[in-house]
Amino acid sequence: MNKQSLSDIRNRIAAISPSAQLLAVSKKQSVDAIRSVYEKGIHQFGENFVQEALEKMPALLDCDIAWHFIGPIQSNKTRAIAENFSWVHSVDRLKIAERLNTQRPSQLGLLNICVQINIDEEETKSGILPGELMGFLTACQSHSSLKVRGLMCIPKPRENVEEQRAVFQQMRALFDAANQQGFSLDTLSMGMSADFETAIECGATIVRLGRVLFGERY
Ligand SMILES: *Cc1c(COP(=O)(O)O)cnc(C)c1O
Repeated sequence: MNKQSLSDIRNRIAAISPSAQLLAVSKKQSVDAIRSVYEKGIHQFGENFVQEALEKMPALLDCDIAWHFIGPIQSNKTRAIAENFSWVHSVDRLKIAERLNTQRPSQLGLLNICVQINIDEEETKSGILPGELMGFLTACQSHSSLKVRGLMCIPKPRENVEEQRAVFQQMRALFDAANQQGFSLDTLSMGMSADFETAIECGATIVRLGRVLFGERY
């Protein structure tokens, strides 16, 4: 995956949807690398590992960053997530939603959450099954410190664009079905470095870009 200039990435996104947002996935990237992207105008950063994020955040306190947690969530990390992030994309267990709700400090405002969908129904993958979505959303909505924003997925790698498109369209259909049932979702978090243009064509509102933005992770 070759790194590309931010302006090229922005142009590629805007050519498909001017309103799609770029979340810079900064796992395994240094504070300096984050700051350099921040100074080019990106203010939303995604991290997968709580400990790593907590180590980097203090050096970036002068930056107006909205931190998004996008990794697997262990119960014993929910407090740190609730206290340090403004979004969580990877909510997939009710126990986790309950803990985030209880532990969210009220002065920080609502915690934005997306429900992670195991869209390929893979046995070892995180996420709820598509058939569980409506009940799960109903339960999440009862939590007054959470704002249920939308859906997120990490599909398995596909051979070609048509297959990528098919899975993103499934996500879009779930998103539309939820809204038809009265939920007010405004966020579809899908698309990474290898497939973000296809994701935006299918309705992604936020793409999560790591390698294409920062280069390979080591
Ligand atoms: C690492 C990661 C990304 C970014 O992946 P790239 O292929 O580097 O763009 C996006 N979303 C999640 C959940 C990730 O873990």
